Amino acid sequence: MTISREGTNLDPWYGHYADRTSGLSASEVRALFAVASRPEVVSLAGGMPYVSALPLPTITESMDRVMRDRGATALQYGSGQGTPELREHILEIMALEGIRAGVDDVVVTTGSQQALDLVAKLFLDPGDVVLAESPSYVGAMGIFRSYQAEVAHIAMDADGMIPAALTERIASLRAAGKRLKLLYLIPNFHNPAGVTLSSARRLEIIDIARSAGILILEDNPYGLLWFDRPAPAAMRSVETDGIVYLGSFSKTLAPGFRVGWALAPHAIREKLVLAAEAAILSPSSLNQMVISDYLDQADWRGQIDVFRGLYRERRDAMIEALEQYLPDLSWTMPNGGFYVWVTLTDGLDSKAMLPRAVKELVAYTPGTAFFADGSGRGHLRLAFCYPPPAEIREGIRRLATVVRGEQEL
Ligand code: PMP
Repeated sequence: MTISREGTNLDPWYGHYADRTSGLSASEVRALFAVASRPEVVSLAGGMPYVSALPLPTITESMDRVMRDRGATALQYGSGQGTPELREHILEIMALEGIRAGVDDVVVTTGSQQALDLVAKLFLDPGDVVLAESPSYVGAMGIFRSYQAEVAHIAMDADGMIPAALTERIASLRAAGKRLKLLYLIPNFHNPAGVTLSSARRLEIIDIARSAGILILEDNPYGLLWFDRPAPAAMRSVETDGIVYLGSFSKTLAPGFRVGWALAPHAIREKLVLAAEAAILSPSSLNQMVISDYLDQADWRGQIDVFRGLYRERRDAMIEALEQYLPDLSWTMPNGGFYVWVTLTDGLDSKAMLPRAVKELVAYTPGTAFFADGSGRGHLRLAFCYPPPAEIREGIRRLATVVRGEQEL
């Protein structure tokens, strides 16, 4: 092979990549998975659902039934928009959060991650701005960057994004000549901040976005996993034209199916289907049919209750351990989902501290993963979804040893 003139010894194609690949970077979270998956490490890093709590025999029965009764259809290409049966079920699931829609409004995707990618592909040109919470979901920011868009963070507090901060930021970015395209929000049990956007703020933010002409992207994979009281109604339940809503089976069922969805106003939905067909032709027929069968046959609401109970117990274990071992730090109190957001003191740096934590056999995600500009060293995200309560307590005890060691340096 001839080495291109711009090439390097490491990658002969170096000078050939599209400009947009400059935004591709290794996710800090993914790099952590390798370390954190060693059995002796207590991983509070990745947001992996506790799939061992699923009724595996029931899911196996669904797989068998689909293959036995409709195998040829399951193994065939299907509709680019997803099977009508699954889209009907998705309407039923969204109704639990106050959303009313038609079966034609839903597009099934390969996880909500692909829905995020398709929406970004439809709306973002290089230099466009996406407004997002501060901090925001690392996987969404990776997508926005891959379309060469900029992320502008909007301050949040215990009640989610602060409407006045949003208004101010829209004005200042517009004054600087920026094109604002999307307002990306995770209103329920935020990843990574653990907080929930209050009902009143949902309405205020919808008004602000509407008058500024900015499309809201409501990302809601955790909404049904509440602990003490249900989350407020989805933003999509009060606004239809200005919102693309994303949902997923990853946290309420299993991420291995890679099935999520987008619910979009008519014109956007048509374009989403075209973009999805261009990307993947059709989502997995087999996986959609297995999920539909499971939803028909199994007590899926009861299973979500099982998950809620299990994650609540783990949240409690984590909060109690933080109170016991790290009382001088502060953290958010999640009412659902997978995550606690911790604020360090004494100028401690979560990124620099991580190798020492791994040496003490505990892993977390440094706050820097969740800010577009690499800030966030004073924070870290703890996920309580995967390890059982006793391991969570041990993990926090180890983390406290690391923090004490740093404070003494
Ligand atoms: N959005 C948020 C906020 C998430 O936390 C995740 C998963 N970590 C996703 C989207 C993507 O989920 P999936 O593709 O598995 O549906």
